[in-house]
Amino acid sequence: MRKLAIRIVGALAASVAIGAVPAAAQDEEPRWSIAIHGGAGTLKREDMTQERGAAYRTSLQAALDAGAHVLKEGGSAMDAIEAAILLMEDDEKFNAGRGAVYTWEGGHELDASIMDGRNRDAGAVAGVTGIRHPILLARKVMTDSPHVMLAGKGAEEFAAEQGIETKPPEWFDTDARREALERLKAEKLSAIDVDIKFGTVGAVALDKEGNLAAGTSTGGMTGKRWGRIGDAPIIGAGTYADNRACAVSATGWGEFFIRVGVAKEICTRLTFRSLLRGGEPFEEGVELTDAESQAEVDAVIADVGELGGDGGVIVVTPEGHALFSMNTSGMYRGRKTSEGLNEVAIYADE
Ligand code: ASP
Repeated sequence: MRKLAIRIVGALAASVAIGAVPAAAQDEEPRWSIAIHGGAGTLKREDMTQERGAAYRTSLQAALDAGAHVLKEGGSAMDAIEAAILLMEDDEKFNAGRGAVYTWEGGHELDASIMDGRNRDAGAVAGVTGIRHPILLARKVMTDSPHVMLAGKGAEEFAAEQGIETKPPEWFDTDARREALERLKAEKLSAIDVDIKFGTVGAVALDKEGNLAAGTSTGGMTGKRWGRIGDAPIIGAGTYADNRACAVSATGWGEFFIRVGVAKEICTRLTFRSLLRGGEPFEEGVELTDAESQAEVDAVIADVGELGGDGGVIVVTPEGHALFSMNTSGMYRGRKTSEGLNEVAIYADE
């Protein structure tokens, strides 16, 4: 059976039934695990000042700690990912909420999605403007509308009805992102050339109850137009969570992540690997090792690369493995688990 948290409870229950709880089982706390990202892209040490690198690491650690605190206290995976993403949406270093990239016309159109692995409920918003925390709006779509995805003006009307906080356009503006748009236009670059660090944010978590959740929030790609939507708000591409499989949040060149269906593809592969090792198809799967899970995740990112796309993912499995995979030179990221792992990193080789 794949859900360790449940298995421990089961072990305790069985022990209680026979009147003796083994010390090891008594001591064993249900696991929790969280991973976050702040975007993948061309991140070179020589382009990054010491201070800027340190500032990114501080922000990542703060978001990671906020999410981990919720999990440690017995809160839900949904609340943990929300806590982590809220901080990064307000942090202008990241391309989500405040600090989002500019559209061709000089505005900010925000995309976000969230998914609850318990029941595969999901919510998403695409191309919204003026929303301080698109992740909260995505969650409202999930909990307070009969839909999964709302876009543009309609999503903004729904936000107003739900009392979601808005901000004036200039609140989202930053010099660095404006300069990226100007450079893209002046040098006729593509968003890929100018977005040397993408900056989308995401979080995935496993809580003590064994529930998984995933969320992603972004301003998309610099200079986007014609209502372009990337993978971030698309359930199955940029975000997916299923307690039986995994939780995934992606970042990178969205068109490729949509074509591969990255997030769902990773979950499907992990499910099948688990079932196959279990022997009989469609029986409950067996636990996967860290290396087995990593191999499946890497294979999907390699597939994105074969099509010509780049980016990365964060993944948490039902076993509590917190994994990264990327084919870029860096991804702002962090992971923290009940097993004592606590790390933030920027470059692919750290
Ligand atoms: N995946 C996002 C998009 O294509 C961009 C990013 O992750 O940086 O909109």
